[in-house]
Amino acid sequence: SMEDFFRPVKPGKVTYADVGGLKEELRLLREAVELPLRYPDLVRTLNITPPKGVLLYGPPGCGKTLLAQAVANEVEATFFAVKGPEFLSSLHGQSEKRLRELFAQAEQKAPSIIFFDEIDAFALDRSRTTTSFEATLVAQFLSLMDGFDRRAQVVVIATTNRLDVLDKALLRPGRFDYRVRVTVPTLEDRLQIFKLHTAKMPLEGTVDINDLAEKTQGFTGADIAALCAKAALMAVARALGPDMDRWPASLSSDFTSAIRITGEDFA
Ligand code: ATP
Repeated sequence: SMEDFFRPVKPGKVTYADVGGLKEELRLLREAVELPLRYPDLVRTLNITPPKGVLLYGPPGCGKTLLAQAVANEVEATFFAVKGPEFLSSLHGQSEKRLRELFAQAEQKAPSIIFFDEIDAFALDRSRTTTSFEATLVAQFLSLMDGFDRRAQVVVIATTNRLDVLDKALLRPGRFDYRVRVTVPTLEDRLQIFKLHTAKMPLEGTVDINDLAEKTQGFTGADIAALCAKAALMAVARALGPDMDRWPASLSSDFTSAIRITGEDFA
């Protein structure tokens, strides 16, 4: 229901250690979020203006949500998660009231993170906006962000796949001052992601993850997670069947098949 938007959620047990690669992206996010949420006294004493918003942008499945959950957990912030499209469709013309309530809740339960997933659902460039309702919503959202006292221990983290279509007003100083691009992983990052997603598998030296990382150029973190799960399932299916004696020696062939299948999904 609508009320669920204003109830804090557990961001899962994600920690910094669960994020594969993305070192620089994580560093920037921590810089933006940890100062206002963890060191409010420092903000007061030094008279600093910490960022109010961080925009994570880039293609789906590359770890934007994971990063937000990790930082929320690590700073022990109350986490409000809002999905742009669902939020938009459930407002019934009460946008101002709803948004104000959300921001007020966050301030009350501070330190807080308001996570706005797919913010482009309503924060499109005004020249592209189809309804005046959406334009009003953006204006209201921004005025709430502007209205935040800089000592408020609240940070808004928003995500989008399409930075280019966002309302430019979001990018003005004092709003989403931090913009972090989260994109398809490099070879080194893929290696880290494979390490994480195979950490609990009995690979026992049968699978060369360096080789896997090399063969998966263009795969996102989500693709790698899916492929590891697929390989594990195929291995289990074989182990339960007539090939039981080959477990886990031929796990590597399961990964090869999984890479082929996942790769075909792109084509
Ligand atoms: P979307 O735009 O679709 O919401 P996203 O960028 O938010 O995508 P996530 O939801 O964070 O992507 O990633 C989906 C899943 O893929 C994660 O739950 C995780 O299992 C895996 N994953 C993605 N990136 C990484 C990474 N860098 N390290 C470890 N796992 C990753």
